[in-house]
Amino acid sequence: MIIAANFKTNHTRKSTKAYLGKLNSFVAELKSDDTVLVFPPSSALDNFDLTDNISVGVQNAYPTEKGSFTGEIGLEQIEEFGLTTILIGHSERRHVLGESQDEVAKKYDFYKSCGFQIVYCIGEPKEVREEGIESVIAYNFSQLEGIDISYENLIVAYEPVWAIGTGLTASNEQIEETLALLNEKIKAPLLYGGSVKVANTKEILDIPNCEGILVGTASWDVDAFCEMVEISKKQ
Ligand code: PEP
Repeated sequence: MIIAANFKTNHTRKSTKAYLGKLNSFVAELKSDDTVLVFPPSSALDNFDLTDNISVGVQNAYPTEKGSFTGEIGLEQIEEFGLTTILIGHSERRHVLGESQDEVAKKYDFYKSCGFQIVYCIGEPKEVREEGIESVIAYNFSQLEGIDISYENLIVAYEPVWAIGTGLTASNEQIEETLALLNEKIKAPLLYGGSVKVANTKEILDIPNCEGILVGTASWDVDAFCEMVEISKKQ
């Protein structure tokens, strides 16, 4: 299983260090061999001494080694900390910050060429979900345009936009049906994300074709995230 935490614009440098220290001890003591990924804000990136199955990744980066892209970070700033994991295509970047599929695909190509592990997010808005499963799949597949889905270091996170940060989780039937159809095309591990919390972690991880979870809000509390890692180990 893959258990991932997206801090978004939460946690400081100091609190990220404390969080990772606690998570690291917990995972080591639990002897979990699941893959645990943590995406802190870029201001909190550092060299962290972590057990092998925990990786820190970046929530976003510009497709460049370095250059004049005010407000962005590139490969040089990520490599300083030896990090090789990136989140690309998150719905907040697509729908709040207006990143186009073309920009997402350029980012994907660049970090793929650098050999990064990429957690690539797809997911439909509410109006598309309301049109039915055919529209849902067509929309999600359109977010794979320009993306090499045969890339060996790819993880795909299915995150319906209407379920992110809203407290609304897709039903288990909706997740199961969608993951089964996505799995016909995508051979990379599939995660589910969208208001996952401790209380629904087990049932979501039990869904066929679900190889893990990408957690936003509920992951900001280290104790809750540790509980999710523990539930995953018992799967
Ligand atoms: C996310 O940010 O990827 C996410 C799924 O957020 P939340 O868990 O808050 O819905």
